[in-house]
Amino acid sequence: MISLEVQHTDGKARAGVLSTPHGRVQTPIFMPVGTAGAVKGVTPEQLTSSGSRMILANTYHMMLRPGGRTVEELGGLHAMMGWDGPILTDSGGFQVFSLAHLRQIDDEKVVFQSHVDGSLEELTPGRCMEIQRQLGADVIMQLDECPPGDATLEHVARAVDRSILWAKECKRAWLAGGESVQSLFGIQQGGVFADLRARSAEALVELNLPGYAIGGLSVGEGHEAMVLALDAADSQFPADRPRYLMGVGEPRDILAAVQRGIDMFDCVLPTRNARNAFAFTWGGRLRLRNAQWTADPAPLDENCSCYACSNFSRGTIRHLFMAKEMLAATLLTIHNLHFFAEFMAAIRSSIASGTLESDAKQWVSQMYASRRIPGDEK
Ligand SMILES: [Zn+2]
Repeated sequence: MISLEVQHTDGKARAGVLSTPHGRVQTPIFMPVGTAGAVKGVTPEQLTSSGSRMILANTYHMMLRPGGRTVEELGGLHAMMGWDGPILTDSGGFQVFSLAHLRQIDDEKVVFQSHVDGSLEELTPGRCMEIQRQLGADVIMQLDECPPGDATLEHVARAVDRSILWAKECKRAWLAGGESVQSLFGIQQGGVFADLRARSAEALVELNLPGYAIGGLSVGEGHEAMVLALDAADSQFPADRPRYLMGVGEPRDILAAVQRGIDMFDCVLPTRNARNAFAFTWGGRLRLRNAQWTADPAPLDENCSCYACSNFSRGTIRHLFMAKEMLAATLLTIHNLHFFAEFMAAIRSSIASGTLESDAKQWVSQMYASRRIPGDEK
């Protein structure tokens, strides 16, 4: 099981240590996404040296290919991924709603068509727990229903009720598996509706779970609405449990969420942006395909100590992208993950020194006021 020790607070922001069966990690933490059992483009060794300490894998992708049973036969996700740090698996629900062709949903189950081979698949709370047990991650997530950002109040209310029901079912199935080293997190839904978020949180906290996630944000509602929806999180969830904001990775959003008491994040942003030739820096995002970098001998970021910045120039990396060399994506992934690790470390030390509010303002103005910002590619 996991436990969180909060060591410093600054306003609602917390910095601490999350203990897991696969070691201790400092929070707030950012988890890179290993969608199908690998963080795209990098080896576990490169992940570790980029500063990544905890990663996420997608249950949806693993259940379709190679299947939970096969992962178990291969020794579980840790063995399969060559990663001995903590792993979190999501429930598969989010991808069912966003990727798969949804066929049917009721309080018992969700039936969908696999995007891999078109086969009909079914997820129930019990099956969701069974697959995640086979995968063997340290933190597992309840099955939830995540409505789109423009969903009506009625739709979101129904998703909240269903997600509460599924949280109870998941807890029952998780406990029925006997003594477990895995920790089950509940997922708050409720979109941008404060009363629905409150109802969702209250029901989950009653279940006394090892941790709580905030879902259904970063689905198109916009920064301001997201921040508003997080305002009550600190009072809604117990102080001694980790709080995880799902799928949010924009640095500005991470800062706003940390300032509202969030401890854990995951997002494909650093890895996906890397494959699209965007580099994160403290001065904003660089688009390496731009011709302006053609003969630039400087590293991506003068102050970055990552492998890419220590050995390659902007001009070289731009060339590798134009020549479609695989190394290009690998180098930028290493750099972006290193940036996110450094960013979270800076946030933690800012919390410890009690200066997060002013530091956050300065970082946001550096990163977002700069001429380097491209057409915000996500
Ligand atoms: Zn770098």
